[in-house]
Amino acid sequence: MKIVLATSNLDKVKEIKEFLKGYEIYALSEVVKPFEIVEDGSSFQENALIKSKAVFAKLKELGFEGEFISLSDDSGISVDALGGEPGIYSARYSDIDESGQMAAKNATDASNRAKLISKLNALNLQSSLAHYTACIAISSKFGDFTTHGFMYGEAINEERGTNGFGYDALFIPNGFNKTLGELDNETKLKISHRSKGLELANFVLKSLKRHYKSD
Ligand code: IMP
Repeated sequence: MKIVLATSNLDKVKEIKEFLKGYEIYALSEVVKPFEIVEDGSSFQENALIKSKAVFAKLKELGFEGEFISLSDDSGISVDALGGEPGIYSARYSDIDESGQMAAKNATDASNRAKLISKLNALNLQSSLAHYTACIAISSKFGDFTTHGFMYGEAINEERGTNGFGYDALFIPNGFNKTLGELDNETKLKISHRSKGLELANFVLKSLKRHYKSD
């Protein structure tokens, strides 16, 4: 059984590969030509399934469904003081205008962090409770499966550290006094939403692996 990651986010690919050592894992671009996937779901789970199903459909088209499965991650940060923003819009936060419309297409991790900082500052807050969510979706010839993982902590209004990606320089996990930007990768791998989602997904993967072998 071979796993294709239904994501072009290289930071996610790195973390998923590190966590799922022992599986034969391929980046999307190694197996299929790039194609657009419209993530228009209203939850992490819907968006994760949109991605894993779209990639599995491609694998089928290529006749690879007998040996490949697809695995996706849809994730983001939800900040309590901002009513759960940016949530499923984490990757595109700075593209969204005040009326909630998608007004641009040039968000970067840096511009998204800047928006989060300015939103906290506008409320005169130095920090707010926050959590990360990751939904892992798997699509295979035996069906579709999802798991979730969470990491709780607080979001702060200044960047600290350069490790990780996305909002990591703004997020202090519970039980630590450093941001994920200051903590090392090994620590993040032990506590992250993605790792927790993958830990559960691993039960599905182990079971699928047995079925693929016996086919
Ligand atoms: P997605 O690719 O649509 O799932 O968007 C995920 C976005 O959520 C990323 O672009 C980051 O902004 C944010 N995000 C998700 N997981 C993490 C993480 O582990 N660290 C930092 N930011 C994250």
